[in-house]
Amino acid sequence: MTDRFDVVVIGAGIQGAGVAQAAAAAGYGVQVLEKTGIAAATSCRSSKLIHGGLRYLESGQYRLVQESLREREILLRIAPQLVKRVAFNIPVYKNTSRSALKIRLGLTLYSLFGDFRRDSRFETVPRAEWGTLDGLDTTGLKAVFRYYDAQTDDARLTHAVMRSAQQFGAELVCPAEFLAAERHDTGWRVRYRTTQGEAECECHALVNASGPWVNHVLQRIVPAVPLPGIELVQGSHVVVDGGLHHGVYYTEAEDKRAVFVMPWRGGLTLIGTTETPYSGDPALATPRREEIDYLLRTYRRYFPKRDVDVRDQFAGLRVLPKSPASAFGRSRETIYMTDDDRNPRLVSVVGGKLTGYRAAAEKVVALLAPALPERTRRADTQMLPLDQ
Ligand SMILES: Cc1cc2nc3c(=O)[nH]c(=O)nc-3n(C[C@H](O)[C@H](O)[C@H](O)COP(=O)(O)OP(=O)(O)OC[C@H]3O[C@@H](n4cnc5c(N)ncnc54)[C@H](O)[C@@H]3O)c2cc1C
Repeated sequence: MTDRFDVVVIGAGIQGAGVAQAAAAAGYGVQVLEKTGIAAATSCRSSKLIHGGLRYLESGQYRLVQESLREREILLRIAPQLVKRVAFNIPVYKNTSRSALKIRLGLTLYSLFGDFRRDSRFETVPRAEWGTLDGLDTTGLKAVFRYYDAQTDDARLTHAVMRSAQQFGAELVCPAEFLAAERHDTGWRVRYRTTQGEAECECHALVNASGPWVNHVLQRIVPAVPLPGIELVQGSHVVVDGGLHHGVYYTEAEDKRAVFVMPWRGGLTLIGTTETPYSGDPALATPRREEIDYLLRTYRRYFPKRDVDVRDQFAGLRVLPKSPASAFGRSRETIYMTDDDRNPRLVSVVGGKLTGYRAAAEKVVALLAPALPERTRRADTQMLPLDQ
């Protein structure tokens, strides 16, 4: 007999895990198909920040900032072992392109979006303390601003969300590669491949949370649906030896882009990221020599006295709307592509942020609810603690 589910989710990155959790908590029967492993792709290669995204104010993405700040607070409450508040330092030098006034205005707006909570406020670091800032170059330094956001381990967070989904009955099949889905009157017939061979299941609704493979999956849907106009943009990180004791540093690279220098796993420093157009197989994304050089050059400029012993490097792929604009200024909002405006049975989650996964997942479930049978809600994801 063919297995039947309310919702089948393709992909167990943060978005797929989030949708599985939100749908299972809403009472639906859920199956997740993941071809490689939980958080095996983008969701273990991010900058690991749970943040509103101060820099998105520059590109006018106010709604994104506001929602992300709200989600940051929820995650700090429900996942205190996984999401930690961390100080962000913004050094301003004589030749920094963003002036102290501009940064002050940006931070004021950021704390306004954070509802002026005590921990949403910012401060300036007194000159007397500059010498203690992890070896930050103080030559030509005019001011250091400090505000607070949060940091996580993206892979561990994704595993925790998936465990929560499974506690509410979601079934994970992994490794299981989605092969095709065919629409019928009441939903979808789904074909996938496991180590045992090909298998089939039925579902009322399908969620495409395959990250950089979003169009690859959509090409396997019958009848055909339009493909979103997207571009993949690679972001690389490099990990060097040595810890940071005063939080994250928000630096400006030679091309004026923001590069974060972040404490990582106690004794390490994580530096990222880059924006390089990518057109190959998503599974093969890997940092380029010039990306690592660019990141290390920025690091050395701000921290000239620190040793540079590279311990690791990795690259992830952003899914961004196609546009002639620079990747840096392009929207980071989640896009929800549906097969039908009024009564969707297929939602593709395109782009978005780790930070906003829970809100995105709730939107996906709300979009699909009219096509799903009535079920009794089991829990509210805003209240569900996530363990380590
Ligand atoms: C460089 C970089 C830095 C970032 N930094 C941050 C940050 O600091 N903070 C933040 O909030 N956001 C950040 N983001 C964004 C965030 O990382 C992503 O939005 C998020 O991880 C995407 O998750 P996802 O589930 O959509 O995709 P993925 O994590 O890529 O998951 C997709 C999954 O689908 C599976 N899959 C694909 N095809 C199939 C198939 N046919 N069958 C079965 N399974 C399939 C894949 O194996 C994979 O596991 C960053 C992104 C990048 C690229």
